[in-house]
Amino acid sequence: MLYERERVVRSATRSIPASCYTPHENSGQVEGDMVRFYIDTRGCPKNTVDSEALQAVLQAAGHAPVNSPAAADVLIVNTCGFIDVAKQESIDRLLELGQQKRPGQRLIAAGCLSQRYPEEVAADIPEVDFMTGIDAWRTLPAALEQLGTTQTAQLDDVSVPAVPSGSLLRFPATLPVLNQWPELPRKGTGPTAYIKISEGCNYGCTFCAIPVMKGLYRSKPLSRILQEAKELASRGVKEVVLVSQDSTAYGLDMRNGTSLITLLSALAEEVPSLLWVRVLYFHPDRLTHQFIDQIAAIPTFCPYVDLPLQHVHPDILRRMRRGHLIERTEEHIAHFREVLPHAAIRTTFIVGFPGERRAEFEFLLEWTQRRRFDRLGVFCYSLEEGTSSAEMADQVPLVTREHRRKKLLAIQEKISLEIQQRLIGTTLDVLIEGSDDQSRPRYSKHASQDGWSVGRSTRDAPEVDGIVLVRGRQRIGSIVPVRIHEATAYDLIGEVL
Ligand code: SF4
Repeated sequence: MLYERERVVRSATRSIPASCYTPHENSGQVEGDMVRFYIDTRGCPKNTVDSEALQAVLQAAGHAPVNSPAAADVLIVNTCGFIDVAKQESIDRLLELGQQKRPGQRLIAAGCLSQRYPEEVAADIPEVDFMTGIDAWRTLPAALEQLGTTQTAQLDDVSVPAVPSGSLLRFPATLPVLNQWPELPRKGTGPTAYIKISEGCNYGCTFCAIPVMKGLYRSKPLSRILQEAKELASRGVKEVVLVSQDSTAYGLDMRNGTSLITLLSALAEEVPSLLWVRVLYFHPDRLTHQFIDQIAAIPTFCPYVDLPLQHVHPDILRRMRRGHLIERTEEHIAHFREVLPHAAIRTTFIVGFPGERRAEFEFLLEWTQRRRFDRLGVFCYSLEEGTSSAEMADQVPLVTREHRRKKLLAIQEKISLEIQQRLIGTTLDVLIEGSDDQSRPRYSKHASQDGWSVGRSTRDAPEVDGIVLVRGRQRIGSIVPVRIHEATAYDLIGEVL
């Protein structure tokens, strides 16, 4: 799911951190068959994890990452194909790198956009030399061998054609799922890291193209997740963010008793140094009081509940085929608040779904005011070809969708400010992630001669929620108790007790 507030987005484009590079002077010269590659990641945290896997596979094949497009022999864009804004961002980046490409340099489109629109990418962006889908980590090493060659090669049970210069190499969009989860070293470059726990989704929400791109739900083996978690913990990571389309479904496809509860319990037991285990996203349809009680009892579960509801009006939920009843969801939210009183609860809504009448939108507004979420994301409905809602009548004009989005966000901003201001005078544990050298943050009346540190509390998921500014220099990766002095609708300011 995507960012909705520019100001908190730390970096729209995420490229692999500098610490992973071996600097190279003479870019463009291929030493032996080593290739210098640059990975540009778009879209969601799951793509971040995929790009890290891609880097590890290419390094294992003897190639070297570089941290700028100019220094690379091969430019790789790990694209997003989710909704319009995200697709456009990926297309713009491919075009940009395509236009900057120098002779002999290659451009590769990987990920969801090329998985979903191989024909269009091939036709509309001729600068692309190689295209692959979401299994890029499996295809790229062979592709780099093939680029510029005249020999056919073999990958698993797929023959890889030769790719004379200037021609487009395309792998079949989906390769046979042999070993879905590669064993890859996890670097972990900071106090927080993502772990992808599954791929695909079994739901059929009428507005969503993910099942088209990613296929059915398949869980990553628990042993593999534990191995990644131990590696990350050994590198100083304190918080892991478990990501998937529906983390509540984790393990169910294995039919061996594995579940999100068994995963979280195993992480708490076997990797206790991972102090915060944050879970993105809970599907409202899978919640029960027992499930919530079990989650709340796990010591390292980070009290943060991301529960994308998408809407609350029964008719809209039916047309979205969301499968959950709002009355039951209200009970589950109340139960979360009861068993995890300090938890932050976040949700996401889509406004302007086909046929959304003013009354249904007003119902959503009124419900949101009553329910008072700590964090809220709002997206305009995006017509996605191949989804059943794209065929629905009464498509809502963009201007109306935008108006409704702004109206709902404005209401939430007031609610967030009230909730945040109630935190003044309290003490929160804050994970320190960096520093801010300004003597006084631009919206704070408190100055600090020795600068500020930047961190997050358990109430803030990385890249989507707010930050906590802490007076003075604190050690990156430490979790410190911070007394809160000031609050804005999204951020907090305080000092270490
Ligand atoms: S639960 Fe629905 S919205 Fe979420 S990924 Fe699955 S189909 Fe898409």
